[in-house]
Amino acid sequence: MQIYNTLSRMKETFRPLHEGMAGMYVCGPTVYGDPHLGHARPAITFDILFRYLRHLGYKVRYVRNITDVGHLEHDADEGEDKIAKKARLEQLEPMEVVQHYLNSYHRAMDALNVLPPSIEPHASGHIIEQIEFIKRILESGYAYESEGSVYFDVPKYNRDHPYGKLSGRNIDELLATTRELDGQSEKHHPADFALWKKAAPEHIMHWPSPWSEGFPGWHLECSTMSSKYLGDTFDIHGGGMDLMFPHHECEIAQSVAHSGHDAVRYWMHNNMITIDGRKMGKSLGNFITLEQFFKGEHPLLSQPFSPMTIRFFILQAHYRGTLDFSDAALQASEKALARMTEGYRRLLDLKPTATEPALTEEIAALDARCTEAMDDDLNTPMVIATLFDALRVVNRIADGSQAASEADLEGLRRLFSTWLIDLLGIRPEVGGGAEGDASAMKPFEDAVDLLLEMRSKAKAEKDWATSDLIRDRLAEIGFDVKDTRNGFEWSLK
Ligand SMILES: [Zn+2]
Repeated sequence: MQIYNTLSRMKETFRPLHEGMAGMYVCGPTVYGDPHLGHARPAITFDILFRYLRHLGYKVRYVRNITDVGHLEHDADEGEDKIAKKARLEQLEPMEVVQHYLNSYHRAMDALNVLPPSIEPHASGHIIEQIEFIKRILESGYAYESEGSVYFDVPKYNRDHPYGKLSGRNIDELLATTRELDGQSEKHHPADFALWKKAAPEHIMHWPSPWSEGFPGWHLECSTMSSKYLGDTFDIHGGGMDLMFPHHECEIAQSVAHSGHDAVRYWMHNNMITIDGRKMGKSLGNFITLEQFFKGEHPLLSQPFSPMTIRFFILQAHYRGTLDFSDAALQASEKALARMTEGYRRLLDLKPTATEPALTEEIAALDARCTEAMDDDLNTPMVIATLFDALRVVNRIADGSQAASEADLEGLRRLFSTWLIDLLGIRPEVGGGAEGDASAMKPFEDAVDLLLEMRSKAKAEKDWATSDLIRDRLAEIGFDVKDTRNGFEWSLK
């Protein structure tokens, strides 16, 4: 399998550190607000990687953290803690805020069929480990204490190791040209970042440490928790491109200062999402939460979009490309997904028309194309295109122009259950509509099938009145009924 490594800027063959095992760490959410599209894309991207690595036979340990402390409003270690601020505004305990938004994050991830990671560590649950991590960095000489806080010494580190190598920033320029600090600052240099911050008296989240009553810097938790659960060297670190600088650059510096070498072997970054061509932001009025997508409750949306439509839409683009959301683009995805799931349902209903397999090679070729696409840095759009080609085969069988044996049908069903259901993680829905939960829909689908079976029986008995009544009433309700060689097919209009 080839993975594009942001660090080398090349596709590289994935070779795990330990045979048969794969360790992956992905930066998770800061839980102080409702989950939105910016959460959906990395979660789905690395869910695909998680699923595919397991499919390839690796035992995968997937760690995705929960940031519940230390993420300040502004870069440069200023501003209020995002969670503490929300707690103050809503008059809640910070951990009530964390629990509330973590629950809604999990609900949204379940709806999007994102598998839970193996470990979901909280930053606030790893304060002791973070303090130990800081001690090691202080010992290595790349950090200093100042007024009860501890800062990472970026200029000193940069003399020995390339700071900025991941993002490609010219750090010498940054170091040379940044404004002089006023005499008030505790930092020696503006590029330095906090490992530990002394808490101001009004700050409600703080812990004891050798330096002060305070809290860890945001970048530190990922270095600490990845090394705790995956080791000082591990396979894959993922996250959104917006985290490349400064967050991931700081993680690299911390790990090198801590253990003398890089921790991560493959850095992967998903690209950003725009809405109608613009950056998503609360001030731009185009900030849409996942819940609003699912319910269609936003001025920019003409209708609800199911979680599977959102997932399918995200997978129709390669994760390293930008992705522009719009109502029209989502409607197109909804139609495409409906064609896919209707085709899949049709396939499940097909009966063999031949005894000898006729499609063995064709199915093997389709399967090989899917493997090739996923091996090529998770090319999900190519997998989807291949599955649409497979649907043409299904349609040929359905309209009688292609003979198919039981083995052929089984082969096709395996193709779809492997690639569409297991690896792309698409749950088939009725007509790709707004109802997200496939299992909840099953009894209703069975009831429609039952009605149509009664209609077939009426037709066989030449009871045209009953047969027409069932068809017409179903049409009124909104079902599209088609007679086929094998009986019938239906979908929601
Ligand atoms: Zn992180």
